Amino acid sequence: MQKLAVYGGPKAVKDGDVVNNWPPIDKIDRDLVMASLESGHHTYGPNCTALENEFMAWNGNKHAINANSGTAALHMGIASCGLGAGDHVLVTAYSWSSSATCIMHHNCIPVFVDINFDTMNIDEDLIEAAITKKTRAIVAVHLHGLPCNMDKIMKIAKKHNLKVIEDACQAHGALFKGRKVGTFGDATAFSMNQNKCLCSGEGGIMVTDDEEVYRAARALWSFGETRTPSEKRDYHAYALGWMYRSSDLPAAMGRAQLTKLSKYIAIQRKNGSVLLDELQGVPGLIPPTVPKDREPNWYNFVIRIDMDRTSWKGPRARFRDAVTEALSAEGVPNCVWQHFILPDMTVFKAQNAYGQGCPWSCPYTKPVKYDVSKFPNALRHCETHTCIINPLRIPNGVKAAKAVARGVRKVFENLDQIDPDRILKKA
Ligand SMILES: *Cc1c(COP(=O)(O)O)cnc(C)c1O
Repeated sequence: MQKLAVYGGPKAVKDGDVVNNWPPIDKIDRDLVMASLESGHHTYGPNCTALENEFMAWNGNKHAINANSGTAALHMGIASCGLGAGDHVLVTAYSWSSSATCIMHHNCIPVFVDINFDTMNIDEDLIEAAITKKTRAIVAVHLHGLPCNMDKIMKIAKKHNLKVIEDACQAHGALFKGRKVGTFGDATAFSMNQNKCLCSGEGGIMVTDDEEVYRAARALWSFGETRTPSEKRDYHAYALGWMYRSSDLPAAMGRAQLTKLSKYIAIQRKNGSVLLDELQGVPGLIPPTVPKDREPNWYNFVIRIDMDRTSWKGPRARFRDAVTEALSAEGVPNCVWQHFILPDMTVFKAQNAYGQGCPWSCPYTKPVKYDVSKFPNALRHCETHTCIINPLRIPNGVKAAKAVARGVRKVFENLDQIDPDRILKKA
């Protein structure tokens, strides 16, 4: 038995073993950003167009639209796929809120499906049971950078005539059967928020191979005009649009980062696989599962506590919070991501997004209920997880992954020392 650092024992991870320097900035970033700054183009400019072309080439798509967030890109995906007011859209019960609010932004209704505890993604085997006459689409979220089973999802979508919008905001470069995410569905959203694998500060990209989807999205992206600002404009709003354009400076940064993205992902993969190997067979620890047909980008390495291996009888999340503190004290940078599953968030539960109960009160829809107890896997995941993100990212290498593994093992091998009443009072 070792004394945990949270109780005053020695730290398992030494200062400097793991560094946080995300995203790394070099001459490529400086040159492109400074050139943009001096160029006189400060709205949607040449770097935005170049980023669209370079990203679609990188990902293998026919079209790309640079938007000002991943959420905007998601909403454009929903809006451009021919969905209409009151349509039901299936989505995982555990994700970032905008995986589901993007559905409401188009007056459609999110219908949640529980996760597969192992993959942490939507349980593909529960999708068909959730389909009704009102169901028109599926949002497939490749959470933590692990692709959904796109064979199963596309087969169900085809059978039931559903659109598929991929939420790849965390999943740049992740592979299903060797094929990049974003090449399966009708439209896909990527985020370029600072935390994501491709950072432009804030930003997003929607990709599609469908000309019609592309045109619809492009029209909505800039005030409902049907021309891009670089074409001759007639300042006419043809359709309900938003202001989802990005601007030249963040696009310049995004382009610079894109030149390095494949390298970043290769390093994350190496570090992730080392960490995964090191964490096999640790008592009380559930390491992530990687199905054989998938290659994650290891955007986020998520570990769970096997509560059956503890004697704690209180709330699961309280024990988890104590473990999180103990890991941090050992020098393992970790954090809880979502504290609530989506059907437990007020924005959905209250069913009143636009007032007057809209969009749930839309005369063209069927009522839905959000019963939190229907999502036991999402709840169990949510209450027992913590995330390891920056230690897998450049400039961290195998040494950092091994140091982190040492810290995680120390805490889990001494799990019977974890006393939430002692640790959390102190925190
Ligand atoms: C980050 C994220 C989004 C939203 O992206 P933004 O660029 O922050 O708007 C959507 N879905 C998931 C799964 C995300 O992680």
